[in-house]
Amino acid sequence: MPRPRPLIAGNWKMHGTLAEAQALACGVVACDAAAELLVCPPFPHLHPVAAALAGSAVALGGQDCHHAAKGAHTGDVSAWMLRDLGASYVILGHSERRADHAESDALVQAKAVAAIAAGLRPIICVGETLAQREAGQAEPVVAGQLAGSLPPGFAEAGGVVAYEPVWAIGTGRTPTEADIAALHASLRAEVLRLCGAQGAGLRLLYGGSVKPGNAKAILALADVNGALVGGAALMAADFLAIAAAA
Ligand code: PEP
Repeated sequence: MPRPRPLIAGNWKMHGTLAEAQALACGVVACDAAAELLVCPPFPHLHPVAAALAGSAVALGGQDCHHAAKGAHTGDVSAWMLRDLGASYVILGHSERRADHAESDALVQAKAVAAIAAGLRPIICVGETLAQREAGQAEPVVAGQLAGSLPPGFAEAGGVVAYEPVWAIGTGRTPTEADIAALHASLRAEVLRLCGAQGAGLRLLYGGSVKPGNAKAILALADVNGALVGGAALMAADFLAIAAAA
């Protein structure tokens, strides 16, 4: 099976003014990388960023969605709303949401069902804490998160898995290349078990302190099919340098 086209996804989190978001979007549309590019701005910036991306090949995504299609859910945003604004992806189960909002695997799975129903591709995040890694539990923890979070039809809907060790996010620390390769090999085995043969083409992203300086080595690893990028996605030049390394 040929390697899937890499996906380089920028998670802008809760950063920036509207003017900064628009400028960043204008900076990334200049990309001519072979990889697919995706930016996930904060909700209030989605509409203007969609306008800035119009006509480009850069995709738009949300950073979360509610599991219901509509209703009395103050402060929440549905997958249909994201789709209506031009999004094609949504990040689900990021470790910051799992920690800040006590999101369980079951809730992430329900959100992924809603995302697929709305025509979005879910990017489901999994990853171990430092204590879990030091206890030798990284692979079983991640396998458990996958089994609990992936909905039926995930691979057919173009779903993506992002492996993000919690201790590598925003810290400047990364696992060794051997550890990333080993974890991604176990992820591939797990998605094949959960999704059947379709799991062979499912993109597995690595996330956690990806920078222009380490992107090439990480993205060259077997079963690493792209990156989910936080801090380095806030500078167009850094994000494009990572995309060029894919
Ligand atoms: C993230 O939050 O998904 C992330 C990977 O952040 P950073 O690149 O800053 O570690």
